[in-house]
Amino acid sequence: TKHFPVRRTGRDLLAGRRRTVHAVDDVSLELRRGTVTALVGESGSGKSTVARLLAQLYPLTGGEIRLDGTAVKAARGRSFRAYVRRVQIVFQDPFASLNPVHTVRYHLTRALRIHGRAGSGEAELEERLTALLERVQLTPPQQYLDRFPHELSGGQRQRVAIARALGADPQVLLADEPVSMLDVSIRLGVLNLLKDLKDRLRLAILYITHDIASARYFADTTLVMYAGRIVEGGDSETVTQHPAHPYTQLLIASAPDPDRVVAESEQKETGSGEPPSLIAPPAGCRFHPRCPKALERCRTEPPPRFDLEGGQWAACWLYADGGADRATGRGDDG
Ligand code: SF4
Ligand code: MG
Repeated sequence: TKHFPVRRTGRDLLAGRRRTVHAVDDVSLELRRGTVTALVGESGSGKSTVARLLAQLYPLTGGEIRLDGTAVKAARGRSFRAYVRRVQIVFQDPFASLNPVHTVRYHLTRALRIHGRAGSGEAELEERLTALLERVQLTPPQQYLDRFPHELSGGQRQRVAIARALGADPQVLLADEPVSMLDVSIRLGVLNLLKDLKDRLRLAILYITHDIASARYFADTTLVMYAGRIVEGGDSETVTQHPAHPYTQLLIASAPDPDRVVAESEQKETGSGEPPSLIAPPAGCRFHPRCPKALERCRTEPPPRFDLEGGQWAACWLYADGGADRATGRGDDG
C-alpha cells in the first residue's frame, strides 16, 4: 500500500521554451509518504525550481502534478489553499522567511488560522502552539513563543519555519537546502528532526541539497540533477556508493568528504567547466562538454534513462546495450 502523494511528470514543464531561464525539462519524480527523496545538484541545476513548481509558486507550463493519484488543477483561490495545506515548503534562509517584527507566536498562530487549524478559543490555540513547538523540539515551548526571530539562533529559526509548515498539517514537505545556511555543528540536529518528522507524521519529504554526502545519510532515494534534468536515480546507498552517471561520479569526487554526514565546507568546484546556461543548454547530453567519457553520439543525441540493477537508473549512453561497464568507481578499477 504505497502512497504516492505527489507525482509529477512532464515532457516539458517549462521546457523547450528557450527564453525561459530556469527551465527544467522532462523531470519526473514521485514522493512517497514516510520517505525522504533527495534532489542533489549544483546551484543553477534547477533543483530549487522543481521545489517551487511543486509548491505552485511558479506556474507549470507543461506536465502535471498529481497528489494521491489525482491531477492537481492550476492553483487558484480555494483549491490553492487546499493544495498548500498538503504541500508545504521550507526555504534555505529561515531569517528571510520569518518576519522580523513578529514573534514566534504570531507566525505559528497565523499559519494555524490560514489553514483552519487554530481551534476554537484561546486554550485550544495555546495547546496547538505548544504542540507545534514540541514537535520541532523547541522546549519548553513557553520559552520560545514570545521571542522574535533575532532572539533565536539560526537552527532555532529553521525549527520555527518547520513548525510553521507543520501548522498546515501537510503530507508533503519540500525542504530547499534547509541546513545549508546553518552552522555545521547544528545541521545534523535539524536533519535528524526532519527524519523524525518523516517517521512520526509519515511525511513525504523532498530534500534539496548540493551536498551529496548528506543525501546518503538522510534520504531513502537520491536523484541527481544536472542542467534542468534528472540524470540518475536510485536508492541513496547505491547512488552514492556506486554512482553510475559520470556527473554523479564527479560530484562525489569533489565532495569535501564523502564519508561525513554533513560537509564541513562547501563543495569544491566540480571539475572542469561550469554548469551550462539553461537558456541554451548543450545539445545531446547536456553534460557532454564536461564529461570525460563522452562518446560521439553524446553531442547530438540526448540519452534516455537506462535501468541498471536494483532500481538504479542513469540517463547516459554508457549504459546503452546493457551497459557493459557500469563505469562506477568499482567498474573502472576492474
Ligand atoms: Fe558523458 Fe555521454 Fe554519458 Fe552524457 S551520455 S554523461 S556525455 S557518457
Ligand atoms: Mg537553490
